[in-house]
Amino acid sequence: MKDHEHYPLIPIERGEGVWLYDFDGNRYIDAISSWWVNLFGHANPTINAALSEQAGRLEHVIFAGFSHEPAIQLAERLVAITPEGLERVFFGDSGSSAIEIALKMSFHYWKNSGKSGKTEFVNLANSYHGETFGALAVGDVPLFKQTYEPLLMKCRTVASPDCFFREEGESWESHSRQQFEHMRTELEQHHETICAVVVEPLIQCAGNMRMYHPVYLTKLRELCTQLEVHLIADEIAVGFGRTGTMFGCEQAGVSPDFLCVAKGLTGGYLPLSAVLTSDQVYQAFYDDYSTLRAFLHSHSFTGNPLACAVANATLELFESENTIENNRMLAQVMSESFSHLNDHRQVAEVRQTGMMLAAEMVVDKKTRQPYPWQERRGLKVYLHGLKNECLLRPLGNVVYLVPPYVITPDQIEHLAKIATAGIELATK
Ligand SMILES: *Cc1c(COP(=O)(O)O)cnc(C)c1O
Repeated sequence: MKDHEHYPLIPIERGEGVWLYDFDGNRYIDAISSWWVNLFGHANPTINAALSEQAGRLEHVIFAGFSHEPAIQLAERLVAITPEGLERVFFGDSGSSAIEIALKMSFHYWKNSGKSGKTEFVNLANSYHGETFGALAVGDVPLFKQTYEPLLMKCRTVASPDCFFREEGESWESHSRQQFEHMRTELEQHHETICAVVVEPLIQCAGNMRMYHPVYLTKLRELCTQLEVHLIADEIAVGFGRTGTMFGCEQAGVSPDFLCVAKGLTGGYLPLSAVLTSDQVYQAFYDDYSTLRAFLHSHSFTGNPLACAVANATLELFESENTIENNRMLAQVMSESFSHLNDHRQVAEVRQTGMMLAAEMVVDKKTRQPYPWQERRGLKVYLHGLKNECLLRPLGNVVYLVPPYVITPDQIEHLAKIATAGIELATK
């Protein structure tokens, strides 16, 4: 809050497509999709229509003993578009709640299956899974976690497949394969007490947009199956086309035991999340009331009809706009307009997976020595962006693009120009 003595908050009056308009006649391209939630632009006419239509019909209803059309449709749609074997849907109201649900359900599944010795979770270094206690506990970004560490459940943290630290000349695939050996050791030693491994497929987004090769997920799926450990895929940020495919898991050809989605699920309109799981997991809870095997977890706004209606409209847009296909062209434009930064003396690398691209500023290109965080280099890029119609909001020293899918090639090129000038200023 104290920062805002120098950089006043920017109240936004309205949005349209990629643009945000403030009250002083300025506008900004939302290059980060308002924290990765927006997919088809602000005030999208199709989604607006679905929302107002639903508001006129039913705004909310208790989701216990009662149901409604938007939720049923959405559950069916999600089952149809997610990897094979995910047949049951549990709604939550945020990404963090989806993670809590998956963690609880995994533990509870093993308990109901006579394996109550399974009480631990494995995560990756530098991962992020949300802000509530369980989600924070399975995350590993010190900035968010460290303060609360004494309050959090312990977690087994394994080295990340993150390819930023690969040897010079080494491929992403070879590095991620090699890093998998840490996971193998951990799981082989401790699988009897482990409920699940939780990962962000392909991109550790809040962990500075670090990326890895799909082979890691393929191998992780094999090992989890072999050792009877669940795989929880947190696609809250990377789901719905961000990695170039509808879900990141597709690129590894795997189905997780639990798939968590949120953020883009409603096109960035309303809070809603979902956890998808298998019928086998569902059946472990399905029993007479008196056995007390049920999964007792609910939120007041579970399955909210307005949120489900905009989610349905969002998923329809993927089909009518042929989004995944068209995004290939946009991803190519992103790649071409940012590639020159690879030669910048203070940029370690430009990395990209589908519609997510990041340029990492460093003191030394060779050693990859980071700028001290206290220098807040990213803030300089942010401020330069604001003066030039761009909302770029770097993560530390990492300048990145996660644009709405309605962005045009010209707008991407403008973002590249302003990001480059911002990096130039910030690294002077
Ligand atoms: C944003 C995010 C979450 C948390 O979602 P919220 O809706 O903010 O609670 C969890 N996991 C990942 C990978 C995220 O990016």
